[in-house]
Order: sequence, then structure tokens, then C-alpha cells
Amino acid sequence: MTTHVQHLIGGRLVDSRDEFETINPATGEVLATVASAGQAEVDAAVAAAKAAFPGWAATPAKERGRLLRRLGDLIAADVPALAELETRDCGQVIGQTKKALIPRAADNFHYFAELAQHQHGETYDSDTGHLNYTLWQPVGVCALVSPWNVPFMTATWKTAPCLALGNTAVMKMSELSPLTASRLGELVLEAGIPPGVFNVLHGYGHTAGEPLIAHPDVRAISFTGSTATGNRIVTAAGLKKFSMELGGKSPFIIFDDADYERALDAAIFMIFSNNGQRCTAGSRILVHDRIYDRFVADFAGRAARLKVGDPLDPDTIIGPLISRAHWDKVTGYIELGQREGAKLVYGGGTPDVAAHLKGGNWVQPTVFADVDNRMQIAQDEIFGPVPCIIRFKTEEEAVRIANDTVYGLSSYLWTENTGRVMRMAKAIEAGMTFVNSQNVRDLRQPFGGVKASGTGREGNHYSYEVFCEAKNVAVSY
Ligand code: NAD
Repeated sequence: MTTHVQHLIGGRLVDSRDEFETINPATGEVLATVASAGQAEVDAAVAAAKAAFPGWAATPAKERGRLLRRLGDLIAADVPALAELETRDCGQVIGQTKKALIPRAADNFHYFAELAQHQHGETYDSDTGHLNYTLWQPVGVCALVSPWNVPFMTATWKTAPCLALGNTAVMKMSELSPLTASRLGELVLEAGIPPGVFNVLHGYGHTAGEPLIAHPDVRAISFTGSTATGNRIVTAAGLKKFSMELGGKSPFIIFDDADYERALDAAIFMIFSNNGQRCTAGSRILVHDRIYDRFVADFAGRAARLKVGDPLDPDTIIGPLISRAHWDKVTGYIELGQREGAKLVYGGGTPDVAAHLKGGNWVQPTVFADVDNRMQIAQDEIFGPVPCIIRFKTEEEAVRIANDTVYGLSSYLWTENTGRVMRMAKAIEAGMTFVNSQNVRDLRQPFGGVKASGTGREGNHYSYEVFCEAKNVAVSY
């Protein structure tokens, strides 16, 4: 029997006249029917968050921290169930949800529970006989809008700093992966966080997302999603504060002096984990001419050995794509790559999966080599397991290709040459550069992108910029 999922508004479960279905992307089965919010539910959720704001903002940071730590503990204690729910709803393989992503969600609350208590401003004495000091004050009601690719982790990455810094929130999860966010709402209440501080709305972007971000009582927007939607939101947001975490087409650059085996491992991980449905995916793999042919052969051989199938099987590496529409998009790019003249060295078809998975959205890991960076498959974010391997000969050429994109989220650099590391880390247009490493997150890092990958940074004290107003107080003496 399918369940029915409702909104959480002011601490109560609330239904809507409209509903939609959330589908298991591995099987095509309906997992639940979900209430679909419109203007009325948005108004109610924002009103609940606004009413809860004064009390929550006045709650001592230490007490907010205690409640958020408890929430982190509840998540940590529920990892197996949350991981399974996430895997069923969005297709992320259980090896990732159980070992990495759900535990990271608990870490997010533990980390920001502490950070809020260490929050401090600046003081300085001015020549005019004033002592100036900065108060970081919560902004009020925040809209937190999330995508489907890493739903629970992203939801908590936004919720933790937002609440820790004294704001209240209305979260709008993706219509494609609503289940764990709904569970987050229950855990927030179980932790003892007052009703109305955290509200969850389900629904589509145009019916629930748009009225939420346009609502006059929403003071800040933390958005993670595509660049196209980010652009629409920025236009509609007016003078609200916002942080935009958007798409990417990150370069993964391997020089001939790199630790070859480690670079190969990391290149595989950065494009095939979560089936390439990852904003920081190393989707353009730039390989030095001297190791190019060997790399293409080894990379294709490794791609062929990745286990594709049931995401609930702990040995599976590649699960399904999120939806039929996304499958159409990714397979469309696989056809386009061949028309554009890239060399298909592995994949391109549909993998053979078990009978119970036949209704899922399956695509083989697919490898294109001899890609020209001007091809559309190298310029567009495919958001699937479809890397483009590109040959380069010099450092200058690698930088030029790396930067020849509208995006600038992450970048990866593999070389043993320290001077080159320093030069390229400066020259690459991206919010993040990982050297001789895949993407390894530390919660103190500023996270975010440049160019079409977004604006603003989240994490550590960078989150103050999104979720607080810096007020200066000048005292004459
Ligand atoms: P999307 O932009 O289609 O949707 C994201 C969210 O916005 C969903 O909840 C959706 O319902 C909502 N939405 C859609 N239109 C809206 C509107 N007009 N107003 C308000 N809300 C609206 O993105 P997606 O397909 O869910 O996610 C994939 C994208 O997210 C990729 O581009 C990926 O790179 C990006 N992403 C970025 C990061 C990052 O941190 N930079 C992390 C994860 C995913």
C-alpha cells in the first residue's frame, strides 16, 4: 500500500487538494502520493515561520545549539532507515547513502550547533571617537529550495545554519524526492524544536516554489538547483538576500606526472558516483597528451566493470537516473555526442538489469573520448554518467579549456609539480579546486561556485552572509 505524505506547517501535518506521486526510479513503482502545495499552503507556512521567528531568534544560541545537536543525534541513530528511504526515493546507491550522505546530514547539525555559539562580530575604534561593533542578526523567514540529487544532505546543509543562526524556515523539497525531507520535519519536532521554526512544503517549482520565493515575508532564499531555475529565482527575488548553488561542468585535469592510478580512481568516482547526477562531477576529463591513449583505454575498461543495478544492493555502484524525463535528456546527449563526432569508447546503451528493475530509468555508464571542448556535450551539464575526455598538451592549453565554459563550480588538478599547482589553482575559474584529490568535503570549506555556477558561499562563517544581516553599531564616547 502506498503512503500519503503531507506538508508540515506550524508543527501540524497539512494536506492539499492537489497531489502528485513520488516514484522509485529503480523500479518505476509509486512509493507515495504527496500533497502538492499552492499559494494557500505557501501563505500558511510563511505565516507559521513568521510567527515562530521572534521566539526562536530570542532563544539563546546555546539552547538552539542543544536542540540542533539533539536533532543530529536523532539522525545519526536513524541512519539505516533514512538511508533506505533516500535510496528508494532518489536512486542513490545504499553504499553512499548509508556510509556517507546520511551521516553527513547528522554532521551538518552537529557542526552548525557549535558554530552558532562561536559567532562573533568585529569591533574597532574610529578616529571620530566612536566604538563600532558588528551584530550578526538573523534575517527572519528563509526559503530553502532543494533539488533531488542528494536530497537529505542538501536539505540539512541549508536547515542547520539557517536555524542555528536564529532564523525560521520554509523548505520546498524537489517534487522528485520528497520523502526524507518529510521525515526531517518529524525529527525536528522530536528533537524539541518549537512548531513553526521549520516547515516543509511539497510541490512543483511553478506552483509551490515560485510563490514561496516571491512571498513578501520571505527575507532570504537559499537555493540549490539548476542554473536555469536559479536565473528565474534571482529575477523574481527582488531585494531579498540569496545564495545560489547551481550547475557545473567541472574540469578534472590530469598531467603526465600525476599519480596515475589514484587519478584514474578519482576520475571514475567523480563522474560515476551518484550516476553523474552530482553538481561537482568531474564531467570534463582533461588528460595530457603523453598519457592520453593509455588513460582512455584504462578508464573505459574500469567503466565497463562498474556494477549497475539495484541501488539497495550494497555492492552496486551505479543506480538509476532520477526520472523518465531525465533519462530522455541524458540519452539525448549520448546521441548528440555521436552526431557531434566524439568517439564513444564505452556504453551508450541500456544495461541489462534484473526483472524487478525493468521499469527503472537505466543507462549504461558511457565514455566519450576525443571530445572537442566546443562540442555541446562538453559545454552543457548532462548530469548523468557521461564523461567527456579531452586531450591537452600544455599547462596554458589546460587552463584555457578548463575556463572555456559558462560554469565555475569545482575543479580537480592532478600533478606532482607544486609550481604548476599554485599557478593553476589561481588561474582556474571555479569556486573550489581539489589538488590530487577527489571532492572531499570539510564543513569549514566555503562551498559555492562562480560564473553560471552561482553566487554566495555556504558553510562555516560564510553562511552568516546568507542567513544573517551584519548590523553596525557606532557608539560615540
Ligand atoms: P531544478 O532547478 O529543476 O529544481 C531545483 C528546485 O527548484 C526544485 O525543488 C524545484 O521544484 C524548484 N523550482 C523549480 N522551478 C522553480 C521556480 N521557478 N521557483 C522556485 N523554485 C523552483 O534542479 P534539479 O533538476 O532539481 O537539480 C539538478 C540541478 O541542481 C543541477 O543543475 C545540479 O548541478 C544542481 N545542483 C547544484 C548543487 C550545488 O551545490 N551547486 C548541488 C546539487 C545540485
